[in-house]
Amino acid sequence: MLLFRRICSAVITLGVLASPSYADPVFTDNQPVMAIVIDDIGDNRKKGLAAINLPGAITYAFLPHTPHSYDLAEIAYKQGKEVILHAPMQNKAGLRLGPGALTEQLSRQEIQQVLHNSLDSIPHVVGMNNHMGSLLTENRQKMKEIMAVAKQRNIFFIDSVTTGRSVAWKVAHEHQIPYLVRDVFLDNKQNWNYIHNQFKQALSLAVTQGHAVVIGHPYPATVEYLSEALPILEQLGIRLVSASELLNIRSRTQLLMAQPKVEPCDRSEGHCQALPVAIKH
Ligand SMILES: [Zn+2]
Repeated sequence: MLLFRRICSAVITLGVLASPSYADPVFTDNQPVMAIVIDDIGDNRKKGLAAINLPGAITYAFLPHTPHSYDLAEIAYKQGKEVILHAPMQNKAGLRLGPGALTEQLSRQEIQQVLHNSLDSIPHVVGMNNHMGSLLTENRQKMKEIMAVAKQRNIFFIDSVTTGRSVAWKVAHEHQIPYLVRDVFLDNKQNWNYIHNQFKQALSLAVTQGHAVVIGHPYPATVEYLSEALPILEQLGIRLVSASELLNIRSRTQLLMAQPKVEPCDRSEGHCQALPVAIKH
């Protein structure tokens, strides 16, 4: 209940603070919505299962060719969850990518074959987002090659925005591929206070712009936090929706998504942040 009070006070404060320039909701006929994507599923069965067992319309992003990605994707699908590919893409830090890596050293044919194989390895896949990718998502040509596959497979794309100079979402837009842009990383630090502050940022975006796209990971701290926070969302008037449902809402309203609010970022993977939004306890 302490969490409930702290979240409520944040949302109420935000409602009061929302300026006219913020009060320009993307969705005029809908309540605020939030899409949560849990990345990096597939290497660890126990952690993956705990994340999949969270309540509500969460979207799960599976690393291709990992020991548990196939089974966990089946389990998630049977529980009514949305399944997407978490496609490993080359990063500037030289971090290991694992199987299914997409790099700029690959030819067009190679990169498209690798991506097709990864998509084939995950059952019930309806979309994809990028794992790491601070280098590759700045490469317009490679993004065109990747989006051609997304178009062919009729899947949507979520730009995780691991670099402020990502062109991935722009190329998706140019290819008329349904796309979303990550607003908030939930758990760059795995402690309650950090995750709580990030979640409040997501709440503020949902309230002020009508929607928020959040990315988290199957860390125990994240799962524990969300198991407390998710049941409260409805009471706050914010609807948890899958990524595809958010895209459907956007197409119904026939309004463009707001431009991504991200700062240019050169930090290591997964550490770019949405612009801070004023929040008071
Ligand atoms: Zn990842």
